[in-house]
Amino acid sequence: MAQQCACALKEAHKIVLLSGAGMSTNAGIPDFRGPNGIYKQKMQTDPELIFDIDYFQKNPRFFYQFHREFLKVINKIEPTFSHRFFAQLEKEGKLAGIITQNIDALHQKAGSKKVYEIHGSTWQSYCTSCGEVFDYETSYAKSFKEDIPHCEKCGGVLKPDIVFFGENVKHLYECQTLAEEADLLFVVGSSLTVTPAAFLPSMCPGKIVVVNKGDISYAYLHPQKIFIHAEWDIDDFFKAVEEAGRE
Ligand code: ZN
Repeated sequence: MAQQCACALKEAHKIVLLSGAGMSTNAGIPDFRGPNGIYKQKMQTDPELIFDIDYFQKNPRFFYQFHREFLKVINKIEPTFSHRFFAQLEKEGKLAGIITQNIDALHQKAGSKKVYEIHGSTWQSYCTSCGEVFDYETSYAKSFKEDIPHCEKCGGVLKPDIVFFGENVKHLYECQTLAEEADLLFVVGSSLTVTPAAFLPSMCPGKIVVVNKGDISYAYLHPQKIFIHAEWDIDDFFKAVEEAGRE
């Protein structure tokens, strides 16, 4: 399987990666937002309420109470072998872009530049009143200094650039274009259950490689369209692919 994937990589010119939560759990990020994630398990709180946009507008304190825990975790973690593997493909000019469902910015930390964060990210915050943008360092510091971080200009409440339930996903047009132009599309650590990301692989005319330990949904992607389906640990798989590519 790794050998087959290494050959496909050699032949490909426009590689696209679609990454999901599984890619970050390998870096040590627990699943926060999922239905069985730690908000639910350890804090007995419904993640849908934490990330509900209407509820945030009414009670931002509630969100920030949980968000501080998330920030502490992502501040400590480092990109995995697989994050760096795809950053390297971009340097070699073979990668057209990364579409990610993750909000932890590990792809950027690994050195990737063309990253479309479909569910937004913690890398920026903005003022919900005047739109002023705050970088990661400022938003991070303000989240711990203030109970509810506020804008210095107008006093409005800050919101991280994460897509909440009830908000539109980002970069959908660019993501569709990437999928349509890919000659090799990797689906890594995603079960393809959350739309619209789950729709994207079916738009790819090229080869599709799925690397995911658990089951994936075939609701939007016919199994016959999958060239390789590796139910491996993600880092083990890409280490084997790199090894095979050197031979
Ligand atoms: Zn403001």
